[in-house]
Amino acid sequence: MVFSKRKMKQLFAFGVAIVLVICLYKSWGSPASAKLSLAIASDNDNELEGGFDRGRFGARHPEPRVAEQSRDGGVVADRREELDKEQDTRMNELHEAKKQILQLERKIQELEGRIPRKYPDVTFLNYKNRKRILITGGAGFVGSHLVDYLMMQGHEVIVADNFFTGRKRNVEHWLGHENFELIHHDIVNPLFIEVDEIYHLASPASPPHYMYNPVKTIKTNTLGTINMLGLAKRVGAKVLIASTSEVYGDPDVHPQPETYWGHVNPIGPRACYDEGKRVAETLSYAYAKQENVNVRVARIFNTYGPRMHMNDGRVVSNFIIQALQNQSITMYGSGKQTRSFQYVSDLVDGMVALMASNYTQPVNLGNPVERTIQEFAEIIRDQVGGRSKIIELPAVEDDPQRRKPDISRAKKYLNWEPRVPLKEGLIKTIEYFRKELARSNHSQRNIFVPETTENLEK
Ligand code: NAD
Ligand code: UDP
Ligand code: UDP
Repeated sequence: MVFSKRKMKQLFAFGVAIVLVICLYKSWGSPASAKLSLAIASDNDNELEGGFDRGRFGARHPEPRVAEQSRDGGVVADRREELDKEQDTRMNELHEAKKQILQLERKIQELEGRIPRKYPDVTFLNYKNRKRILITGGAGFVGSHLVDYLMMQGHEVIVADNFFTGRKRNVEHWLGHENFELIHHDIVNPLFIEVDEIYHLASPASPPHYMYNPVKTIKTNTLGTINMLGLAKRVGAKVLIASTSEVYGDPDVHPQPETYWGHVNPIGPRACYDEGKRVAETLSYAYAKQENVNVRVARIFNTYGPRMHMNDGRVVSNFIIQALQNQSITMYGSGKQTRSFQYVSDLVDGMVALMASNYTQPVNLGNPVERTIQEFAEIIRDQVGGRSKIIELPAVEDDPQRRKPDISRAKKYLNWEPRVPLKEGLIKTIEYFRKELARSNHSQRNIFVPETTENLEK
């Protein structure tokens, strides 16, 4: 049996009303208790409201006034006993009513679970055009936006994620959709499924996250990538590896073209990630050469947007959260180091274009507008509009000093370049974090659901 939400609300209200009527009848509706109520009322004319209510909820009897007015100790004692008993009965009935309301609420929740969910309106693709696409790390920040894009296009999307830094709620608006599947899977272990394309994004991306367990970061980027390349080889799927600007390390060429080999400390704190990604790239081209696997390598530069983790620790989320709470904005080092920030929808467009292209060499995907971290702190503080001070903390080890992508390859081969200006992207991101900070329980949703294809294309 299927109920509409409105019907169920009516059912719930009806249920609650019935329970309350039963309780009221039991407490005050029966002739005996009516008599008693009247007796109390006439004894307590002046205190009818306060005295009665307090007694009813067990706070205090209207004791002294009853004693004063009756002038008969025996009758008073009897009445007090009667009152005590009645109070106990009412308390029991109240508990019983609460229990029944709780049961009704559970029933409603269960029935609500059976209502077919409403999903964003995805394009219908016929069997020939619909692809089966695996996204590893699809419950993370970038992955979940890619899920939205590919779902809206009408493809079948399978997410494999171990939820190390990702969250089910990033993709919960697709749970139950016939084109969507979420697998709780650690990519370090083999995965046997049948797919046409693989976007391999599984890996922590923020420095505090990837430094948290460096061995696991290396395993995810090496063993995990081998597994994805093995899967691609077995099923003949195209695979796109999410690499990073970190393969350039602390670069001594500026801006960084794909032909630059990089300047990475192989044993520094960032090495687990930087070298992990470099091996991932090496593995991709080894599988391409030896096993004819069709690979794409995206070198992703700093990306920001809604659904970044509150605990992410990267500069965009840190600064916004600090500014929203009027806390000091923590600049590591002098703030003269630079970064170039791209909004997440631009990155998604770039990855999809790269997957669709015939271009197999690495491609930088990033926004070439470069800013110092000091400038960035000021932009965020001003846009949020708070009173935060910008403070300088000790610099972090091996922090790349300048970073800006040379995107001529992406322009030439993918006809791609970022479209979202920083200010516009920040509005959406700040709004997202504002809602995140306001959340105090799980029913307060903040899931950034795509509504129409036009929205996604903005
Ligand atoms: P994220 O931490 O939000 O997402 C990573 C996802 O991978 C999470 O859902 C996490 O749970 C999952 N994951 C981690 N280890 C896994 C494992 N062993 N098995 C299965 N799932 C695992 O990070 P993000 O910013 O969305 O980054 C996504 C990808 O893009 C990463 O590969 C990252 O290296 C790359 N990248 C991102 C940026 C950026 O600025 N966001 C920059 C360069 C590269
Ligand atoms: N693999 C996987 N899914 C597949 C096929 C392979 O996870 O559908 C894994 C497999 O377990 C292996 C890795 O990918 O560890 C590399 O596969 P490949 O065929 O290259 O190596 P081999 O199996 O010969 O060691
Ligand atoms: N950073 C900062 N304050 C923070 C977080 C980061 O000044 O609270 C700096 C960091 O030292 C680096 C830049 O911002 O120079 C970008 O750091 P992030 O961790 O976002 O990414 P990275 O590009 O280093 O991977």
